[in-house]
Amino acid sequence: MKQEIPYKIYLSENELPKAWINLRAFMKNKPAPLLNPETKAPMTKDELSQVFCEELVKQELDDTTEYIDIPTEIRDFYKMYRPAPLIRAYCLEKKLGTPAKIYYKFEGNNTSGSHKLNSAIAQAYYAKEQGLKGVTTETGAGQWGTALSMACSYFGLDCKVYMVKCSYEQKPFRREVMRTYGASVTPSPSTTTAVGRKILEEFPGTNGSLGCAISEAVEAATGLEGYRYVLGSVLNQVLLHQSVIGLETKTALDKYGEKADIVIGCAGGGSNLGGLIAPFMAEKLQGKSDCKFIAVEPASCPTLTRGKYAYDYCDTGMVCPLQKMYTLGSGFIPAASHAGGLRYHGMTSTLSQLYDEGLMEARSVTQTSVFEAAEYFARIEGILPAPESSHAIKVAIDEALKCKETGEEKTIVFGLTGTGYFDMMSYEKFHDGKMTDYIPTDAEIEKALAKLPKF
Ligand SMILES: *Cc1c(COP(=O)(O)O)cnc(C)c1O
Repeated sequence: MKQEIPYKIYLSENELPKAWINLRAFMKNKPAPLLNPETKAPMTKDELSQVFCEELVKQELDDTTEYIDIPTEIRDFYKMYRPAPLIRAYCLEKKLGTPAKIYYKFEGNNTSGSHKLNSAIAQAYYAKEQGLKGVTTETGAGQWGTALSMACSYFGLDCKVYMVKCSYEQKPFRREVMRTYGASVTPSPSTTTAVGRKILEEFPGTNGSLGCAISEAVEAATGLEGYRYVLGSVLNQVLLHQSVIGLETKTALDKYGEKADIVIGCAGGGSNLGGLIAPFMAEKLQGKSDCKFIAVEPASCPTLTRGKYAYDYCDTGMVCPLQKMYTLGSGFIPAASHAGGLRYHGMTSTLSQLYDEGLMEARSVTQTSVFEAAEYFARIEGILPAPESSHAIKVAIDEALKCKETGEEKTIVFGLTGTGYFDMMSYEKFHDGKMTDYIPTDAEIEKALAKLPKF
């Protein structure tokens, strides 16, 4: 007889993954290499090592090793907040009246409030191992900066965060959490870097964007002895670290003989989604499953659904390597939305390649529909979700309702990436009916895409 599935599937500490899964190693068509923005030749290990930590560069360039061991020090830190349970959304299923089974993996059960800690601790560890003094980074909504400041304080590293200006102003509490963990926080664009001053001259009064903040953080790192730059998403190494989410999810489902039919995640730079789908996509690539994957993005920043697959800069200041990815153009500054973590013009090369080959789908959803789904979910399942995560909730509900129409008993799995406690100003706007849906026009997107680098 089949075991009854509990509301929460817990794993023991022993079942915490011992190795990350490197999805690119399973791909027949590898994502295109990073290019040097000046010479347009593939970035070498030495070039990358001037900006990034050495061990992380190795991971960045590795597209053949299927599993990479998680160092004991990182696993020990993971043990403080992982494994995260896989939750069966029985109450939501009942309320929707769907025959579908819905599962979600909640990553908001740590002080930083999101999945970003999974990579922050790994990156801080390798920086410490290399004997560095500190790291610099950007943060959009503040989750990555918070996670990194926690990780740096754990290993005794200095942490300098460039925070997108609109978030710096909208989320003063995030800023204070970072300072509690000893990080210094600068609103971006700032006058502390050459690139920041240039952006301010060109776009006076700008709210900033992740692309601007990245340029500033890179400039700060390369100008300081004993510092390197670290990034919270988009890069291969970050997807690798986030695969701990997918591995735990798969172990939990396997325990009860469950097979995912649809895996859904929100996509900003693509790290949580890339990590969640990694073991499931690896199976699909090996012909062992027919699972469907859906990336959900904001209609205000429709990278996959309306962008172009081309080489582009990862940052507004054009100092980072070129990456072949779905992009809206590095000059595209998305409207100030309430899902700050999804306001990025590009999508990680791995997911871009999979999407281009038709192995993954994408949907874009408007912000008000996302908050409706968030509130609905909170009232039924209890968890108050982050606006970013609620993009995945919205599409999971849509898919479960489709099953209701067709009578199909599909198994839907989605990533609930974080808590919404730091987003109450956004919820307030929604409740007061003051939230708007900005959708960029074709002309705006064309204008940004016209500035893609030419070869
Ligand atoms: C940063 C963030 C995201 C988006 O980033 P990805 O790299 O696309 O995963 C999603 N949800 C939350 C809560 C975040 O903090």
